[in-house]
Amino acid sequence: MKLKILLRPALLAVMVCCVGCATLGESGGFLTNINLLSTSEEVQLGQRFAVEVEKQEPVHPDAELQAYVREIGARLAGVSPRQDVAHTFTVIDAPDTVNAFALPGGYTYYYTGLMKICESEAELAAVMAHELAHVAARHHGEMITRQMGMEAISSIILGENPGAAAGIVSQLFSSGVAARFSRMQEREADQLGMDILYRAGYQPEAMITFMQKLLEYDRQRGGGQHSLPIFATHPSPEERVQLLQTIIQRYPVEMRRQRQIGAERYQAQALAKVQ
Ligand SMILES: [Zn+2]
Repeated sequence: MKLKILLRPALLAVMVCCVGCATLGESGGFLTNINLLSTSEEVQLGQRFAVEVEKQEPVHPDAELQAYVREIGARLAGVSPRQDVAHTFTVIDAPDTVNAFALPGGYTYYYTGLMKICESEAELAAVMAHELAHVAARHHGEMITRQMGMEAISSIILGENPGAAAGIVSQLFSSGVAARFSRMQEREADQLGMDILYRAGYQPEAMITFMQKLLEYDRQRGGGQHSLPIFATHPSPEERVQLLQTIIQRYPVEMRRQRQIGAERYQAQALAKVQ
């Protein structure tokens, strides 16, 4: 039991919902994150968690769908400022779960319930770019070392406690808790994410329209107080839309218009398969 108590905060650290995370404090610091994990430690930790996630969550069986999402991911990862990890992109077959998250070391997961809300390739790419931005800005290292401590991290990396990674992941899925990045880290992920999206050739407006669709989805389900777990968040989704509307001004309108939306392609390659 002691171990469980020790590790519980860690589950809050390892998973990141794409559109919202509660605030743990402001120590993240905009563009001044402290990272205490080496890339190799981050990747090893991510590998341990990824094995457990894929045991506990249903990976979508459609190889073409997985390949399509990987292709979008590779396009985004190609322009990410972080090139020292092998990014992976996996679709989870859970049509009622509106979520996406990144593990340390570049492992990212997208639920079909979230994919159903997207209406274009650019909107899914916007979610993916936000997750890649958390990875690129090394938010996990800072968060995990702050919450778990190096001793617990080392024990998982070294495989000294085989049940620990499994326990963290199963607690995450049973409690439905989204991870806790700081307010500053979420803002940074939105800002850097929009830049990745734009440089990969997608219309950056997609990040805003996706966020608005998510708000609308929540409203339709009677969630006046943001009932979706992913809205248990600071900053609020409305605040994030406002921030994105400011950030987007950096990109010239005529350049934005030339970029891709990919609604038809998304319909054929993804929406037809995730209903
Ligand atoms: Zn986030």
